[in-house]
Amino acid sequence: MLSEFDLIQEYFQRPHHATRAILGIGDDCALLTPAPGMQTAISSDMLVEGRHFFAGEDALRLGHKSLAVNLSDLAAMGARPVGFTLALALPSAERDWLAGFSQGLFALADAHNIELIGGDTTRGPLTICITVFGELAPGRALRRSNALPGDDLWISGTLGDARLALAAYRGELATPLTDAEHALAAVRMHTPIPRVALGVALAESGMAHAAIDISDGLVGDLAHILKRSGVGATLDVDALPPGQVLATQNAALRRAYCAAGGDDYELCFTAPASARAAILAIAGSTATPVTRVGSIDAQAGLRLVDAQGAALDLGLTGFDHFKS
Ligand code: ADP
Ligand code: MG
Repeated sequence: MLSEFDLIQEYFQRPHHATRAILGIGDDCALLTPAPGMQTAISSDMLVEGRHFFAGEDALRLGHKSLAVNLSDLAAMGARPVGFTLALALPSAERDWLAGFSQGLFALADAHNIELIGGDTTRGPLTICITVFGELAPGRALRRSNALPGDDLWISGTLGDARLALAAYRGELATPLTDAEHALAAVRMHTPIPRVALGVALAESGMAHAAIDISDGLVGDLAHILKRSGVGATLDVDALPPGQVLATQNAALRRAYCAAGGDDYELCFTAPASARAAILAIAGSTATPVTRVGSIDAQAGLRLVDAQGAALDLGLTGFDHFKS
């Protein structure tokens, strides 16, 4: 039987490598040395079995996704990732599960050159809580409250395939997906790619005003920017870029899942119209596709329009854990 301390040592403690952490796992606290003059960005995201992922979910994918959703928050603030902690509740210490989970987790950590610097481990219903630490220069954060009337509204990547995969798992689709389509869409649900390079470059450039990552559906998440900035927006629903599989579905499904799908982990950000060329250059240099999908208005509220500019009422809301 694996003890708590064996488990940590075997699966989560790795040789220390040169990052900001001067002391990682093994003492009462980790120690970080902030880069001179930089601010620290901190965010936590929790994944609970049966709530955020299906019971029996593949451990490797779960390791990836647990860290990915946290890195996505740093990206949405424009902070460069530095390290993270992991609080883990496990029903039992299964070697296969721990090996898969830590492999998925560290593959993504290594891709961003960040280190696991501490955490906590306990027996309990499977729950994964990661806290990420990032850094950014003072005044550069892409805050939700900074959108201005006249700003363009931008989206990274594509939307809706994660929601499409969920609908397929739940048997909600009038026309079921083929196995190949379902597998392709499911990659977006299980293995989101946090848009770290884009978020960091937008913040460092000073070109973008506000940003949020799309976890609960674009309409719901954009509403946070609008409320905090005291502005409204016009969103061209037909300009929203659908995921590869959603692109082959009917227009009603495309609109609904692009506008309010959830689990996309793309960035929604605003920038002045004068920055259009600069934004496209940043998208190019970070190899991240971006699409202009609307504009910020002085008039409060979110107006959904079609390609001709005619009003659309899709009856959409964002996801809320205590309402659904
Ligand atoms: P304490 O009892 O002082 O809180 P623990 O015994 O819980 O310390 O943890 C021992 C060390 O292992 C600490 O440095 C802690 O940060 C680290 N640790 C515990 N669980 C994890 C985990 N799941 N991932 C990474 N580090 C962990
Ligand atoms: Mg502890």
